[in-house]
Amino acid sequence: MWLDSHCHLTAEAFDADREAVLARAEQAGVEAFLAIGSGYGIPNNAGAVELAASDPRIFASVGVHPHEAKEWSSQTPDRLARWLEHPRVVAVGECGLDYHYLHSERAAQREVFATQLALARERRLPVSIHVRGQEQGAFEELLEIWRAEGRGELEGVLHCYTGTLEFARRALDHGLWISFSGILTFKQDRGLRGVAAALPLERLLIETDAPLLAPEGLRGRRNEPAFVDRVGQALANAQGRTPDEVAAVTTRNARRLFRLPEPARQARG
Ligand SMILES: [Zn+2]
Ligand SMILES: [Zn+2]
Repeated sequence: MWLDSHCHLTAEAFDADREAVLARAEQAGVEAFLAIGSGYGIPNNAGAVELAASDPRIFASVGVHPHEAKEWSSQTPDRLARWLEHPRVVAVGECGLDYHYLHSERAAQREVFATQLALARERRLPVSIHVRGQEQGAFEELLEIWRAEGRGELEGVLHCYTGTLEFARRALDHGLWISFSGILTFKQDRGLRGVAAALPLERLLIETDAPLLAPEGLRGRRNEPAFVDRVGQALANAQGRTPDEVAAVTTRNARRLFRLPEPARQARG
């Protein structure tokens, strides 16, 4: 069974057929989802919390995306704190640094990321992290903030990883896990399959980041959690393993990192 460790189920793109999308995912062997609340405006975190509260397969993560750092206000910490109290909210994020689009200024991004790490540390929650930049700068600054604010007490995942092998190895040394998205399936993967091949499966997660980043063969379409098996297949190919093994290990990894309860299995007999 697969687990989609990062998807934006509350995105408008799913408003018309969310139930059908979840049903297709279940058909495709996806047993659980981490619904990311950030990325569509800070108030939209509430939707992810509600969705997780209404469906036992769904857990939520709440936070402020680096694109939204400029929206941070004096009320934001209280709002986040209230959402984080909900038992179905299992992580902070996605938060981090995005120096590619720079929808918010770098200094604001750094501050808002650091503040959320402090919040995660106080509440002993793992963090879903976004990092993107044309040069290595965003990655280096991110790790610096992670080390300073995490103080060795935090765990988190670099979602939708596109960095180097060398950086990934350093990240693993600092309590971070690595998650691959549909980019791992792209014809032009820019060396990412080589990175995936060299990392220990015991520290890897998979995700769709739906509705964005549909895998190869479906590019340009809306992405959905049912396609997470294609990411798993690509990871299996890169590592020379079976998809079953990759499914079992990455699902177990996500459950460990986000401390998710085991799904209720139907009684046999
Ligand atoms: Zn992201
Ligand atoms: Zn995302």
